[in-house]
Amino acid sequence: MSKEFLEATKAYVERAAKLLDIPADEVKQLETPRREVRVELNVRMDDGSIGTFIGFRVQHDDARGPFKGGIRYHHHVDAEEVTALASLMTWKTGVAGVPFGGAKGGIAVDASKLSEGEKQRITRRFIDGIHDIIGPSSDIPAPDVNTNGQVMAWIFDQYAKYHGYHPGVVTGKPVSLGGSEGREQATGRGAVFATEEILAHHGDALAGKRVSIQGFGNVGTWAAHDYVAKGAKVTAISDVSGGYVNDDGIDVAAAIAHVKQHRSLAGFGGAEAVAGDAVLVHDCDILVPAALSGVLTKDNAKDVRAKYIIEGANGPTDPEADAIFDQRGIEVVPDIYANCGGVTVSYFEWSQNMQHYYWSEEQVNEALQRVMKRSFASLADARKKHGCNLRMAAFVVGIGRVNDATRLRGL
Ligand code: NAD
Repeated sequence: MSKEFLEATKAYVERAAKLLDIPADEVKQLETPRREVRVELNVRMDDGSIGTFIGFRVQHDDARGPFKGGIRYHHHVDAEEVTALASLMTWKTGVAGVPFGGAKGGIAVDASKLSEGEKQRITRRFIDGIHDIIGPSSDIPAPDVNTNGQVMAWIFDQYAKYHGYHPGVVTGKPVSLGGSEGREQATGRGAVFATEEILAHHGDALAGKRVSIQGFGNVGTWAAHDYVAKGAKVTAISDVSGGYVNDDGIDVAAAIAHVKQHRSLAGFGGAEAVAGDAVLVHDCDILVPAALSGVLTKDNAKDVRAKYIIEGANGPTDPEADAIFDQRGIEVVPDIYANCGGVTVSYFEWSQNMQHYYWSEEQVNEALQRVMKRSFASLADARKKHGCNLRMAAFVVGIGRVNDATRLRGL
């Protein structure tokens, strides 16, 4: 699965490079990660045994600025998955126009089985292993699947033990530790701004639209919150425990409160329980995959009933499904644009840290919306110019910017 994800990412890069007439040697340079690190993490588990885990950090490209990308804790994490995700980060920061490169990290571990103490010890050992290659002007991690503000706080603290006080070494920190207002909400919020852009492009609007969301963590919950706040109706949600459907509209605040209390949607009474995958093909206007990669495939793409797919997750659509959506006229708003709100507000957080001057949530949200509008306009222009779909347009924009910077810097 990870191998296919990496191959698909490379294939998109090569197709976009062809549209941009980038020669093969430069494409190879763009594709190849600058550094791939693998570290062994030994920690004492709560039961007294030694737990041995593998952590990865892949620094893909820094032509436009310091490496930037989240850290994921999941049992599927491997070198290929982290490399594909690091590459996507490079094109995403290019699309958003923020002065960063791309990186990704991960630890292969079933996070659902870890206590908070175990999670903290694993995080600190990981930073022991990579503190020399991260830093506020070299590589800046952030949250991803199964990591959050608390994990970022431990990263900040462990890094400080080696290098002193540098809040800009990591983003997605709690506000009380130098985090930014609006960062926690930013990826989901950005996805909703992206939805408004694509709807406006087609002369349409959010009010009354039915939304299905796969994944009810950071991205899924904040997207759900904002969709409802803007007059849409969330009719299907899912998480690792299964799917939950209510065509009259799910009480999103109640679902979020349930997850806060029980750690998952299991037992949520406000909707009919269905199979998790059923949410992807439930009748709706807008489908938001906001969990893992490779969930939309040739097997279910023909059954998707949404008119718009907003990729909150990274890599949720495989290339065969992408082609089916193109044939069926379903607009896929691609990950490297749709979820770039997270890295955009990470940039705002980092720049606040560097200046020790903090913004209001209103300022953050306004600046985020400006970036989402500006980036969508670039995608729409590229689609028109190259006659391609929005995903290819996003790759063209991101790769074009990274390649310009790479050429200017020279060898
Ligand atoms: P999270 O850990 O907060 O939430 C993940 C959610 O997915 C959880 O609700 C989990 O139960 C659910 N899930 C896991 N397996 C599932 C399955 N098989 N079916 C349905 N649901 C399942 O993670 P997150 O930060 O919300 O990240 C979600 C996606 O968004 C990832 O692809 C991530 O790379 C991407 N993303 C996150 C950010 C960010 O700022 N956090 C930014 C950009 C992209």
